[in-house]
Amino acid sequence: MRPKIIAGNWKMNLSEKEALALATGLKEKLPSRLGDKKAVVFPSSIHLASVARILENSPVSVGAQNIYPSPLTAMTGETGPDQLSELGIGFALVGHSERRQFLKETSVFCNQKISYLAKNGFTAIYCVGETLEEREAGKTFEVLSKQIQEGLGSIPSDIFPRIWVAYEPVWAIGTGKVASPAQAQEAHAFIRKEISGLFQNGKSIADTTPILYGGSVKADNVKELLGQPDIDGGLVGGASQKLDSFLALF
Ligand code: PEP
Repeated sequence: MRPKIIAGNWKMNLSEKEALALATGLKEKLPSRLGDKKAVVFPSSIHLASVARILENSPVSVGAQNIYPSPLTAMTGETGPDQLSELGIGFALVGHSERRQFLKETSVFCNQKISYLAKNGFTAIYCVGETLEEREAGKTFEVLSKQIQEGLGSIPSDIFPRIWVAYEPVWAIGTGKVASPAQAQEAHAFIRKEISGLFQNGKSIADTTPILYGGSVKADNVKELLGQPDIDGGLVGGASQKLDSFLALF
């Protein structure tokens, strides 16, 4: 059985005061609503240490929005997994579309990050998804296939359990346009099939890999999306950045 997961991507949207207040509110109010779901939040790097301290000993996990795949080294401006470990942080997003689009992050570089994270005991959440132009040109599955092959190819099966995937159609992120449950389910089933094809006996690996949907998830659509057989949770931006709308997802 795959867990149901709600992951909140706080991006670069919150001030320190807002991030700490949100973390404090979640610590107080989320445990009674969580049920059997898992919750993870991704504050921006400058707030990681303080948010992790607030959420220590709570059921809400904390992750980084990005990492550089290396031990402690001379790499200005980046954050390393060893530094996250010291804070008890065990999750990281990889390949969010904003990083792909504006910082030219490639699936090949994502592969290095995912592999480094999973080998070092972290859970990596690999984001994939097509743009509107790609969808309208009938290229959705071609794009997803390339992102899966390049991003997850040659990752050994023994560390694959520490990888989650997030399907985030770029046209649905922060736009208020949500993929229909059927569109999302179709893409998730395709991604699961692609993961299965990465290994000789890949079905059991694919069947246990959580695949989250991201793109304008809110209280009024989360239940139907998470009710689809291949949708294991949501990677949520806007609605995770305010206490009431985050709590309403559970
Ligand atoms: C995201 O940040 O990954 C995202 C899906 O944002 P939103 O929920 O605001 O569309």
